[in-house]
Amino acid sequence: MLEKSQKLLERARKTIPGGVNSPVRAFNSVGGTPPFIKKAEGAYIFDEDDNRYIDFVLTWGPAILGHANPKVVQAAQEAVALGSSFGAPTAREVNMAEMIVERVPGLDRVRLVNSGTEACMSAIRVARGAKGRDKIIKFEGCYHGHADSFLIAAGSGALTLGVPNSPGVTEGTAKDTLLAEFNNIDSVRELMEANKDEVAAVILEPICGNTGCIPPLDGFLTKLRELCDEHDVALIIDEVMTGFRVSRGGAAQLYDVQADIYCFGKVIGGGFPLAAYGGTEEMMSFVAPDGPVYQAGTLSGNPVAVAAGTAQLEQLDDSVYEALEARGQQLQEGMQSIIDEHDYPLFQHRVGSMFSLFFSEGPIRDHEDVKKCDIPRFNKFFHAMLDRGVYLAPSQFEAGFLATAHTEAIIDEVLEKAEESLAEVF
Ligand code: PMP
Repeated sequence: MLEKSQKLLERARKTIPGGVNSPVRAFNSVGGTPPFIKKAEGAYIFDEDDNRYIDFVLTWGPAILGHANPKVVQAAQEAVALGSSFGAPTAREVNMAEMIVERVPGLDRVRLVNSGTEACMSAIRVARGAKGRDKIIKFEGCYHGHADSFLIAAGSGALTLGVPNSPGVTEGTAKDTLLAEFNNIDSVRELMEANKDEVAAVILEPICGNTGCIPPLDGFLTKLRELCDEHDVALIIDEVMTGFRVSRGGAAQLYDVQADIYCFGKVIGGGFPLAAYGGTEEMMSFVAPDGPVYQAGTLSGNPVAVAAGTAQLEQLDDSVYEALEARGQQLQEGMQSIIDEHDYPLFQHRVGSMFSLFFSEGPIRDHEDVKKCDIPRFNKFFHAMLDRGVYLAPSQFEAGFLATAHTEAIIDEVLEKAEESLAEVF
């Protein structure tokens, strides 16, 4: 069944740490052999043994229109034929910057980079430079990439592997990252008061996605904005996962809140290495060459990535978000009736096309709640679904994603398989 993948994994382990180029791909939490993927199309991925899976990982979010979207493929092919990188400005980058700025409330200028990690790392450097302060506040379970400052109680693979504080991060760096609890505004207030005039920025995922999907409680983001204003602290909204996935203008538009600095990634690159950070004119005036905060990149604004990302963004109009909401509702309501019918101790969260099924009776408000989930049972469910050709994120601590390529018929098929799988694990 996974014969070729198994052989590839054995080979890969000899030359690549864990056999993978990003930890969660190794299936460490759920166990078993990760399928090695050969190709992808629409809602499906295909492995080296020619197994087909309905994909809810979607390369961890970017493929919002499904894999190998024809317009994205064509744009990338046309761009690469004209040269893969110039290290000089292009018209395409200007176009993309204008498209991003136009979508997001309070965003004046944007700088393109290569990964979400780079975007978040640069965002806190700008905030620190602008405010002349060293400390940042992040939330337990939120993930902002693998820059040193963020590997303190980080989500995603760092949680799955149980190494929230990575060796190699110096004590000096760690002491400047203060930890608050997601959805607990008092925990932020206490930190700001105890570190008066020392905090440069608060960074968060507006909808937590890296400890499973957890929406902000009513008013949480507004209160956070007010608290930041009161203490002259920059608010950094990390939209790497939510950006142009949960609405046309991202989570900031959905919850009517404005950041001083935003981070983007995933969807804006159409599956290519492309990310961005940006903010108010005031904040971005600190960025080199206009200002003193240095940040650069040989491949930044890469023409192939920008062409593909632009082709994807151009297709993301209101009708796409309506279609994703309809599919999301179908999945959530279908799951809920299975849960209710069998009285399973399961809890769901969903915002548009981001969702999680928690092996817990809930409520789930922060990552402490997720840690109490029945992880061994989740792992069994994951494999029961994989055996039936449904590829879920291989960890309870990850969100699932929908694409427009997930048709009504595909969701119905997945619900049937979920009912069978749950009957197997309970
Ligand atoms: N921020 C968030 C919210 C993310 O979800 C991720 C990646 N999952 C990152 C930052 C880091 O992005 P990248 O993996 O592209 O470095």
